[in-house]
Amino acid sequence: MITSPARLHLLTTLLLAVVACGCSREKISPKASAPSPELVPATVAETASFIAPPDTAPLPAINAARAFQYTREVAAFGPRPLGSANHKKLEDYILAHLKGDTVDHDSFMADTPEGKLPVHNIIVKFPGAKDGIIIVAGHYDTPYYLRNTGFVGANDGGSSTAMLLELANQFHGKKSDGYSVWLLFTDGEEAVRQWTDTDSVYGTRHLADLWQKDGTLPKIKAFLLQDMIGDADLNIQRDENSTAWLQDVVNQAATRYGYQSHFFQKATGDFDDHIPFASKGVPVVDLIDLDYGYSNSFWHTPQDTVDKLSPRSMQIVGDVILETVRLLDALPALPPPAAKKP
Ligand SMILES: [Zn+2]
Repeated sequence: MITSPARLHLLTTLLLAVVACGCSREKISPKASAPSPELVPATVAETASFIAPPDTAPLPAINAARAFQYTREVAAFGPRPLGSANHKKLEDYILAHLKGDTVDHDSFMADTPEGKLPVHNIIVKFPGAKDGIIIVAGHYDTPYYLRNTGFVGANDGGSSTAMLLELANQFHGKKSDGYSVWLLFTDGEEAVRQWTDTDSVYGTRHLADLWQKDGTLPKIKAFLLQDMIGDADLNIQRDENSTAWLQDVVNQAATRYGYQSHFFQKATGDFDDHIPFASKGVPVVDLIDLDYGYSNSFWHTPQDTVDKLSPRSMQIVGDVILETVRLLDALPALPPPAAKKP
């Protein structure tokens, strides 16, 4: 993913429109930076337009030790760029984990600056009684342009994949009265050569189009994206390109555990796998900690290794995702989708 400079905060709406129409008047610097300190966010309460009713239900929890072990195993595959043997090994590892579940595949050849490369989104579907779908997504690829640098993406690509594997354990075999939950392992999130509107989020751009054509898109009540969530020093930023009411629900979930200091303390504007869905009116939230090492110095470097991560951070994010799903299920109705951008 990539984050825009603070001054682009005011241009968020314009930028979303740019993404939506596929043109490229405003180019975003491919260099990511930590959230700018001068960009003082409104508190979540100030933007609250929608708050779930409080309740006293027991708090769900993931098995963080198991999730962390998956992170180790995913990182141990090494670099996992599109079209590589390691990428194929990881696909097989994910699919072996999902044996017995309902799994869909969105496989296609993407046109990239390095020629045609295979992209493979993996979707595992857990049915619910309520009409509608909650997507929890995360990417499993690592950048093609970093394939020979020793980059293993323990946090970036590793933690997000591991989280989905652990969430699959949580939903597997359970009957749900709530919405269906689809776990989406996105592919081709990373740039092949350098991040632009067309060299990034290959998998989700393809899938958002596909689901628009086949009528799935209007059924999606919420798209929860998680990326780089293993950092031992966990600071999930408040992404200006995410849906405010959905951030409010996430914040409410976090508050129930006393985890709220890890969420939304600083603002940023992220371009990640949620954007192709946001631009089609789907409510989205990007849970990302792009403050990884001092000034984000571990990001996209060989320093992105398991020793920088903590099972505690995965516990926090995994628990909050489960509780967010539960809160969404408990609501009598969700706000209507945003109007589609032209
Ligand atoms: Zn990345």
